[in-house]
Amino acid sequence: MPDSLMTTYTRLPVTFDRGAGAWLWDSAGKKYLDAVSGVAVCGLGHAHPAVTKAICEQAGKLVHTSNLYGIANQQALGDRLTQLSGMDKVFFSNSGAEANEAAIKLARLHGHNKGIAIPTIVVAEKSFHGRTLATLTATGNPKYAEGVGPLPDGFDQVPFGDLKAVAAAIRPETAAIMIEPIQGEGGIRLVPASFLRELRALCDKHGLLLVFDEIQSGVGRTGKLFAYEWSGVSPDVMTVAKGIGGGFPMGACLATADAAKGMTTGIHGTTFGGNPLAMAVGKAVIDIVSDEAFLARVRDAGIYMKQRLASVADSHSGTVAEVRGEGLLVVLRCVVPAADVVAALRDHGMLAAAASDNVVRLLPPLIVTNAEIDEAVARLDAALTTIEQAAPVAKAG
Ligand SMILES: *Cc1c(COP(=O)(O)O)cnc(C)c1O
Repeated sequence: MPDSLMTTYTRLPVTFDRGAGAWLWDSAGKKYLDAVSGVAVCGLGHAHPAVTKAICEQAGKLVHTSNLYGIANQQALGDRLTQLSGMDKVFFSNSGAEANEAAIKLARLHGHNKGIAIPTIVVAEKSFHGRTLATLTATGNPKYAEGVGPLPDGFDQVPFGDLKAVAAAIRPETAAIMIEPIQGEGGIRLVPASFLRELRALCDKHGLLLVFDEIQSGVGRTGKLFAYEWSGVSPDVMTVAKGIGGGFPMGACLATADAAKGMTTGIHGTTFGGNPLAMAVGKAVIDIVSDEAFLARVRDAGIYMKQRLASVADSHSGTVAEVRGEGLLVVLRCVVPAADVVAALRDHGMLAAAASDNVVRLLPPLIVTNAEIDEAVARLDAALTTIEQAAPVAKAG
């Protein structure tokens, strides 16, 4: 029988039918330790009682009414998120790309308000901002744009972390700088806090909006509610998605009152965004993740995991070149293809995801225990040993 699904994904030969916490069970009953979390989405793990309860209770009451009417849960989550982020305004979407579309519109509105006819946004190479036409144009990976042109204008790419290149790219048409404080899909690439501070200074000097895409790095993933908090630099606009719904699709574009000025009635909209069900789940997730003790535990778990991974990397130095990351957003840079490591891990009952050709991402749920981290490290050790035995690494000399 022909496959009815469009062939947009390379799917691995495994299908899951239930989960609990950091664990998943496939259709054959095999158990896996999940260090993907639905790609940084299921921060509270699988089937978290608070998420299940929020979905069930709200679904039994009201799922959708539209943005033609007031939505109490949207107001409540909006108030909470603005308070937690220091932003003033929020627009709720259904996904990360849509949150970024709202941010891009905000940036262009800001430019037009300054009298710029064709506003442009400075973005970074190797970034990822989504798959809609505007967000894939902002994305610094040309492979996503192959064959789908014409692409919208208005983005200038510069190398990530290169302040001189950013400064050189700023021209009279520039309206904003849009960047991931930690690049996710690009391979968990970090920049020093000083770089973000310099970006802030450039934006202030030239009247540009600083837009942080926290879709992967936000909602507790790095051990702070938002990754930019590590740098002490506040953006004018910030987008979140992935982790905020705990698996339920939703996103948000947050902005200062000034940056949100252009968002006047009728300029933007969405049918589903901010519906009562999504907002109930978002509230449940944010209530748990924004708790300082919860975030402190994520930081401890991240430190513990990195320490344990560093010792595994040491004993497999022919296969693993580097461990890097922040909180529970961690990668192994390997000298073998990431896909081989991911496959070997799967055989050993553990899920990890490739981020680029030789980078393996480990994104366990934020609720992971130290015992589960030990288990993950043991499985990684075994998987790397299998790879090394199958293709002995050439020793120098
Ligand atoms: C995943 C991701 C997006 C896109 O989110 P979707 O929900 O897939 O549209 C945008 N930016 C970053 C940093 C991401 O990691």
